[in-house]
Order: sequence, then structure tokens, then C-alpha cells
Amino acid sequence: MYLCILSASLHKNLSDGWNRKAKNEKFISITLSVGTEGRGTLKKFQYHGCYWHGCFRCFPNDRNTIMVNGKTGKDWHLATLARTRALRKADYRVIEKWGCQDAKSSEIEAEIPRSKTRIYPHAIFYDFEAYMNENRRKERTDTLTLTDAHVPISVSVGYTLQRQPTHICEREPADLIRKFVEEVEGRGAEIRKRVRAEFLPKDIELVTKKPRKRIEEWCNQVPVLGFNSGKYDLNLIKRHFAEQLADTTAKIKVAKKGNTTMFIQTPHFHFLDIVNYVG
Ligand SMILES: [Zn+2]
Repeated sequence: MYLCILSASLHKNLSDGWNRKAKNEKFISITLSVGTEGRGTLKKFQYHGCYWHGCFRCFPNDRNTIMVNGKTGKDWHLATLARTRALRKADYRVIEKWGCQDAKSSEIEAEIPRSKTRIYPHAIFYDFEAYMNENRRKERTDTLTLTDAHVPISVSVGYTLQRQPTHICEREPADLIRKFVEEVEGRGAEIRKRVRAEFLPKDIELVTKKPRKRIEEWCNQVPVLGFNSGKYDLNLIKRHFAEQLADTTAKIKVAKKGNTTMFIQTPHFHFLDIVNYVG
């Protein structure tokens, strides 16, 4: 009932004032309490004037501009959120309304962003070359003897930010793979920086924990592509590569299908084989 009265009279009288920027405007917000004291039954209607509370819809570009009483739009917005949280914690049922949200319009629904699929805009790619080493003779069983072994000798690493690839050649596989991991990490950091600047929302601190974590994870995981790497390259380097990866992070996910590695996932990289994705 109170909400009806508010809609009819207060809302009409005040909605103009809410969005006015006039400095002499005294009205900042209204808090109305309705109901009886007791757990969860006392309602608070919080009406926030957009200018005074740093509404991020109405003042998206003024986040760091001083708006009222020496505080920025962002400060006011955060203070408003904190106030609502405190009220909820004190067991009030808080019903919030911002000046720019008309009670009768469906503006609130219309503003909810729709989920859309974005393809990660950059990637690193690599290719190992090996030579046959005849000295690594292995008698696996009585009837099966491996006369020579594939030994990685060089790798080329490139990425989508610029055309120049790096060619690394090392006689010792452990050194080769260490340099490979360093190269991938250097290029990965550049891509990550670019993607974070482009995709992380400016007010990421206002996003709740779970989606914020997912957004950051998406930005941080740079795809690293090999061609036929699942069958060849990753098997070729697996011994030293697994050591190197384990040194950089504790969280590694590996998906295998027979002898083929489908993907290796760490918090910073996603090693994929293009062959799995071409028709
Ligand atoms: Zn607003």
C-alpha cells in the first residue's frame, strides 16, 4: 500500500528532482520504513537520486569525477551499496529504487545485459621439430626394440599480436623446453594485458565474486595452439614440459584420449590441438 502511495504522489513530485544536477538541491535520498519491528518484517524503501548516489547508468563517464561533497561518483555508489548491505544485515527488507528507474516502465529488465559468446581474440602457436637419435636404443620386450628415438631439437613460437615468430634451437631438450615455456609465458603476458584492457569492465569491483572470477579466468587463459600437437609435439616434450608446468602452477588439467592429449589447461594457458577442431 505504501508503495502505491509513493508511486502516485512522491514519485511524481520527486522524480524530476532526482536527476537534476543543481548544486542547491537539498534532497539526496529518501528512506521510508514500513512495518513492525521484528526479524525481516520491517521494510526500508530506499530511493536513490542518481546524481547524489553516483548512478553508474546515468553517469558512466564520471566515475572518478568529484560530484558531491568532495566524493566521486564511484565513492557515492560504493557508499550506497554499503548502506544497503548494512540495512540487509540488520534484517531489514530493503526495496531500492534509483531515480532513473520508473516504477511502471520495464527499463530494469531491458538493461540486464544478455549473455553472448565471445571468442578469445588472440592465441599463441608453436611447432616442434625433432631428429632421430640412434644412440637411444631401447629394448622394450624380447621381440620389440626401438632403434632410435625422436628428440626435440627446435621450436618456433608465434602469436596473433605481430607476425615475427621466435625460433629456438637447443641441443639439450630440457633447455629447449625451458626456453619454450619462457617464450610462451612472455607472449602470454602481452596477450593477457591486451585482453584485460579490452574486456575487463571498468567497474569490475562492483561485480559479485563468482562472475568476477569467471571473467578474470576467461581473460587470463591464453590459448596455445599446436598442429597435431596432441599426438606428436606434446608427447615429444611431455617429460620436461610437465616438470616446467608443474613449477609454474599447481593447477593443471589434462584431458587424454588414448595416446592423444586433447588439451592441457592451467590458470594461464589452454594448450589445444588445432587438428581436433578442423573438419
Ligand atoms: Zn540513474
